[in-house]
Order: sequence, then structure tokens, then C-alpha cells
Amino acid sequence: MRLDGRIAMITGGGSGLGREIALRFAREGAKLAINDLRREAAQAVAAEITGAGGEAMVLVADVSDSVEVAAMFEEIVGRFGYLDILVNNAGIGLIAPAVRERMEQAIASPGAASAGLGATRTMNDSQWRRTLSVHLDGTFYCTREALKVMEPRGYGKIVNMASIAGLTGFGGSPDYSAAKAGIIGLTKAVAREVIGLGIHVNAIAPGFIDTTFLEVLPPGLKELMILQTPARRLGKPGEIADAALYLASDESSFVVGQVLSPNGGFVI
Ligand code: NAD
Repeated sequence: MRLDGRIAMITGGGSGLGREIALRFAREGAKLAINDLRREAAQAVAAEITGAGGEAMVLVADVSDSVEVAAMFEEIVGRFGYLDILVNNAGIGLIAPAVRERMEQAIASPGAASAGLGATRTMNDSQWRRTLSVHLDGTFYCTREALKVMEPRGYGKIVNMASIAGLTGFGGSPDYSAAKAGIIGLTKAVAREVIGLGIHVNAIAPGFIDTTFLEVLPPGLKELMILQTPARRLGKPGEIADAALYLASDESSFVVGQVLSPNGGFVI
């Protein structure tokens, strides 16, 4: 088993990629701390793990709240004593109704002159702040707490969930693209800072993956994404869990501050 006896925490572990990563890590011998905003979702994943003979605890907290994050890490240390692996995965995708409407029009008449999506021009402060706060603040707060536990032990693996949006930018999602690009910058900076202490920090930038995350998109957009992906399909959550397992295991011992992008060829 590739993570035998390791203690791993996954944020946003109640569904989609986080759930898949948690289940995969548990099968590889890790003990899991499953964070999510949604208690029942996290509990369901923890129950799947314990039902299969593994060990898991549930941590309900909003990763964008530094006080809740600090309390969550106290709970992990109280239960397991330390933490080996952190996967910063929790995330949201917000599309304002007016932008969504313009996206729908663009999908319905692809040949029509573009009036633009107006996403940046019309975005309110609260959407901008919420997106940056969940993705970027959340990744920072959890990383900060994890390092307090990992640095004294001289061991740690931190895997940050970025996105191809952070590599290439998504028209219509300036907030999400900025947050994910920020996560990539944070990954590289922290990786340089802590590799000498035995802690690896890397990121995954998935392409379009088949989870409920894509349900916020207007109808037809998923099909367009598939057409624009050279592999001509959406990725499967298991394909991201494979990447996370590699970066969380000792097989990636010389991989530092990298962005691994399983994306079917969308960004090459
Ligand atoms: P998902 O919606 O299935 O899962 C996200 C989970 O995060 C949910 O369980 C949600 O409750 C939780 N969450 C949201 N805000 C939170 C908060 N403030 N605190 C704690 N938990 C919170 O989505 P997913 O597809 O599994 O996405 C997981 C991550 O992967 C996200 O960071 C997303 O941006 C990223 N990503 C997804 C795709 C994709 O195509 N699905 C592509 C690239 C990147």
C-alpha cells in the first residue's frame, strides 16, 4: 500500500474529486480526515471508508474562515497526533444569472457577433470575494496550519487543486481563473520555502472532469468542452485521484512546486 499509516486530510471531501481522492487514499492505507461544509456529505464518505475497514473522521468547517480552520487542525492533531498529507480541494464555481444568460445565447448562436459575456464588467464584490476566499484564502489557511504540524516533524505532502482555468483563463470566470492562478503561485512559493524541511508542495490543474461541479454550467457548454478537448471526453474523478495519489506518495520524491495537469489535451 502506497500510503500505509499516513494521516491525510482532504478539504471539500464530501463529493466529486475530494470524495474520490479520500476513497483512493483510504484504499492505499491512509487514515482520513474529511472536511466539508456539508456535514452529511462528509459523513457519507467517512462511512464508506469505515465500512470498508478504514479509519476516517469528519470535520465540518468553512475553509475560508481562518478561525474554523485553526479549530479543525486542533481536532485532527487531537485525534491522530499529526498530519502527513493535506489536499486543498474545496471549491465553488459561481456564475451570475446575467452572465449565464449571455453564455446560453452564445452557445445557441455560435456564429452571431459576440457582445461579450460582460463577466468582469458586471461582477459584484461579493462574488469576487467569495470565490477568492474559498479557493485562495482556504488554501492558504489550511496550508499555514498544516505547516505548523509538518515542519517540526520534517515530513509533509501538500497537494493543491488548481485548474486549467488558472493556466489559460476562462472567459466568463475571471474570479475563478484568478483564484486558481493564485493557487499555482502559492504552490510554487511555498514549495521553495519548505522543500528543505522535507515537505513537498505541488498542484493539480484538472481539465473538465465529470462531477456535480459542472452542473452550474448552462446546457450545451459541457458538449462544447468535450469538443474542445482533444481526448473528446470529460475526465473521470478517478483520473484526478491517480494524480493526487502520485503527488501524496513517496513516488514523487523529486517533484517540487509542479503543476500536473490531467486535461485530455485541452492545455498542452
Ligand atoms: P464538487 O462541487 O463536487 O466538490 C466540492 C466540495 O467542496 C463540495 O463537497 C462542497 O461542499 C465543498 N466546499 C465548497 N466550499 C467549501 C468551503 N468553503 N469549505 C469546505 N468545503 C467546501 O466539485 P469538484 O468537481 O469535486 O471540485 C473539487 C475541486 O476541483 C474544486 O477546487 C474545483 O475548483 C476543482 N476543479 C474541478 C474541475 C471539474 O471539472 N470538476 C476542474 C478543475 C478543477
